[in-house]
Formats: sequence, structure tokens, C-alpha cells
Amino acid sequence: MRLALLGKPGAGKGTQGVRLARLLGAPLISTGELLRRRAERDGPGAADLADLLARGELVPDDLVVSIVNDAVASAAASAAGGYILDGFPRTLAQARHSDTPVLDAVVHVDVPDDVALRRIAERAAGRTDDARRDATERRLQCFRSETEPVLNFYRRRGILTTVDGTQPPEQVTEAILQALPVPEGEV
Ligand code: ADP
Repeated sequence: MRLALLGKPGAGKGTQGVRLARLLGAPLISTGELLRRRAERDGPGAADLADLLARGELVPDDLVVSIVNDAVASAAASAAGGYILDGFPRTLAQARHSDTPVLDAVVHVDVPDDVALRRIAERAAGRTDDARRDATERRLQCFRSETEPVLNFYRRRGILTTVDGTQPPEQVTEAILQALPVPEGEV
């Protein structure tokens, strides 16, 4: 299963990604995690990247696509070909990029803004961008302007499912599993 999880910050993409990866036996590729790790290393561009992340701005498309592509390539070597992408593609340019990995299904974990804001405030301990109110607002804004068009893009292609992310985590996972296409050969 080649799956992407999308949703507002605080929607629960990360939580669902971990659960689904375990249940489906697929590697989880989280762009947020990969970018945070890269920003912490002292390599070229790390400081600029850390600044973008702290402000809640999106990272340039070409950089994100190349990071995801590398991660999928190394995951594919060790897994049966499937993967779960958490937080990618977040812009139309990423969705349409010729190097973007193929997707069988895209799941939108949907929560209202007030739920997203409450969850981010509660988990703010470890992440600078969660602790900054301006960064949180900016991430919600980016979701509306950049990622909502991506949801429409996949809706038109007939591979988008929206699940209610306000339910308890187990129920969200169940709803996602129910919505996934049945793999060929198992019909
Ligand atoms: P959240 O969804 O809660 O904002 P993530 O860990 O998924 O948390 O992402 C954290 C940050 O990483 C984003 O605010 C953005 O700066 C960057 N990021 C993650 N995925 C992408 C992407 N696909 N394109 C551009 N920037 C991204």
C-alpha cells in the first residue's frame, strides 16, 4: 500500500502513521521528522531550514521531494514496495512533481481548527514550532492555502478519503483501514 496521510497540524497524522505502519508492515516516512533531523545536523543549509521550521513556513518543494524520494528508495529496498508518507505532498507542486512517489490512496485526517490548536498546545513540550503561537497559526494558514488544493487534486482522481480525526485514535485507525482500497489479489 502506497499511502499518504494529510491533515492540519495536530490532526493526528503522526499517531496514525505509527499505528498504520505497524499494522500494514510498511515503512513510515514523515517529512516533518526527516526535516527536523536534517535541521539538527550541522550540514549546509541546516540553520535556514531550522528557521523555516520554527516559523511554521513550508520548506521548498524541490528539497522536500528529493528527501522523500531518497527515503522511499531506501525503504523500498527493505520492504515489499509499500510506504506511508506522513505530511507529503503538502503543495500542488509537490503532488505534481515528476519525482513524487506514486500513491494508491490519500487519507485526510480531518479536525476543526479548535481541536488542532488545543492538541498542539498540549503537546508543545518538545517542538519550537508547537510552542510558538505565530508558527502554529502560520501552519494552519499554509494548510488552508497550500494543502487544501492538494486534497481536491486527489479527490478528483478518486483516491482521497476523509476520516473524522476527532475520534479516539483506535477508531481513526479503524476508519482509515476500512477506507483503504483492497490490494489486488485479495478481492
Ligand atoms: P505539522 O503537520 O504538525 O505541522 P510536521 O511534523 O508534519 O507537523 O511538519 C512540521 C514542519 O515541517 C512543517 O510546518 C513544515 O515547515 C515542514 N514540512 C513538513 N512536511 C512538509 C512538506 N511536505 N512540504 C514542505 N514543508 C514541510
